[in-house]
Amino acid sequence: MKKISLLLWGLALGACSTQKEIVDIPIIFDEQRIELTKEYLLNRYELEQDTPEITPKMVVLHWTAIPSLKKSFEAFNRSTLPNWRPDLVNVSGLNVSSHFLVDQDGTIYRLMPETTMARHTIGLNHCAIGIENVGGTEGLPLTKKQLRSNIYLVNYLASKYDIDYVIGHQEYTLFEGHPLWLEVDDGYRTKKTDPGMDFVEKVRNATKKFNFKPVPTKKQ
Ligand SMILES: [Zn+2]
Repeated sequence: MKKISLLLWGLALGACSTQKEIVDIPIIFDEQRIELTKEYLLNRYELEQDTPEITPKMVVLHWTAIPSLKKSFEAFNRSTLPNWRPDLVNVSGLNVSSHFLVDQDGTIYRLMPETTMARHTIGLNHCAIGIENVGGTEGLPLTKKQLRSNIYLVNYLASKYDIDYVIGHQEYTLFEGHPLWLEVDDGYRTKKTDPGMDFVEKVRNATKKFNFKPVPTKKQ
């Protein structure tokens, strides 16, 4: 039944005049990045896998706080973190990335396959699809066009995968103790403020029909 309704939704979406194009501009995903991603899954989440595949359960919204599409892309493109030194003790040398990058004009770019792990949210990368938005600083706030594109993407992804949660990056630590939270190190956290709760609430309100689960309100 669910499959049929999803199919109908897909058809309706296809026929809709507001359908948006997703432009593929793949970041480097070479053998080194594949190995570092598998190493991340093993070391951070104790998941031993032959491939860096994920089962999407969540969409995490972000802003890059980088002022252009080009510079945002460049930040994600290389396989390793800019200052990584393999000989030093570290969490992981895998560079950060995201599945989607939405420019200020609302254009949607896909940087990598939707079911390959991207490093964008501590604890949850094994199940989270990331959407990054160019900007987010005081001088370059997120735009209405980006909001519309994020709503479009959540519709697209929730129609394709069993997505239970749509969250802002700033909410991620609320999942500590949740069954989806797999980070092994209690000391590995970074404080996040992106992409602002106003933006997140607007996306959630516009996608209510999917009945996403509520984000945990306090640490469990
Ligand atoms: Zn973020």
